[in-house]
Amino acid sequence: MLPMKVLIIDDDVDSLAIARLRLEKDGYIIHSAENGADGLEKARAENPDLILLDVQMPGKSGYEVCEELKSDSELCNIPVIFLSAADDVSEKVKGLDLGAVDYVTKPFDIFELRARVRAALRTKRLQDLLLMYGEVDSLTEIYNRRVLMERLQQEWDRSLRSNTVFSFIMSDIDKFKNVNDTYGHPVGDDVLEKVAYTLKKSIRSGDIAGRYGGEEFGIIMVNSTVQEAFVAADRYRQQIEKIVFRAKKVSFSVTASFGVADSSGKDSLDKLVSAADSAMYEAKESGRNKVCISG
Ligand code: GH3
Ligand code: MG
Ligand code: MG
Repeated sequence: MLPMKVLIIDDDVDSLAIARLRLEKDGYIIHSAENGADGLEKARAENPDLILLDVQMPGKSGYEVCEELKSDSELCNIPVIFLSAADDVSEKVKGLDLGAVDYVTKPFDIFELRARVRAALRTKRLQDLLLMYGEVDSLTEIYNRRVLMERLQQEWDRSLRSNTVFSFIMSDIDKFKNVNDTYGHPVGDDVLEKVAYTLKKSIRSGDIAGRYGGEEFGIIMVNSTVQEAFVAADRYRQQIEKIVFRAKKVSFSVTASFGVADSSGKDSLDKLVSAADSAMYEAKESGRNKVCISG
């Protein structure tokens, strides 16, 4: 599971520092902003799982920031917890009615704040799972083949409209049958899960990784030429090679072969996919644990 991201928007630097310190210890990735405008910008850039939002700030108030968040289709699903020195009921009601999930009064008790953050993130995770339901592969938690192919089609259409280039990377774990045969199918599943996780955390935001088939993965690299995709794929290759697996009291590693192709000069999406596929086979043929470029 990827660590969850919390954005704290608070002009009170002391309260911000305390919250940051404790929540970082709890394993969250913390982003912060000291005013509303900056906070909205960070929310767009970082897509956090939760926002802690101070009510009283110079410039945009927390209430105004919350209204903007809730009226933006890209940001409206991010839960908000208000932090405020005002303890009266009408303020709490106002905050919750603006769409916040919770309201914590300052100075906060750090144990209470941490518990409320945990509760909000539990719900956020369920919400995300519901949204993804039907789109992700249950073993690897990355997009399934259907979604990968849909996104490829969208990217193809977009590239035609805007006359831009994108790349498709195909990857296949080398000699994976040996892993199943040597360590058993559950260990094979564990390998697939960790390789998928490594890909998911290595790709740039905006790129898409999916499970193409059994031990095959596909990665869509938006706005990228085949040369850029080659560099990225080689980085993924090295990261996969570095993962250490343990089974039957021994450690082992796996490698993967990659094929890359871009959309330029292809007259159909099928041609792009088969170009990446042929390049991947070339990587297999020429010794595995390699990246090959189509053509
Ligand atoms: P190559 O280097 O040529 O790719 O060899 P390979 O052994 O990886 O390729 P092959 O296609 O012969 O074997 C793929 C294996 O992947 C066979 C299949 O049982 C296994 N596999 C496919 N899906 C899953 C899965 O979900 N879990 C596990 N554990 N194994 C799977
Ligand atoms: Mg295969
Ligand atoms: Mg294989």
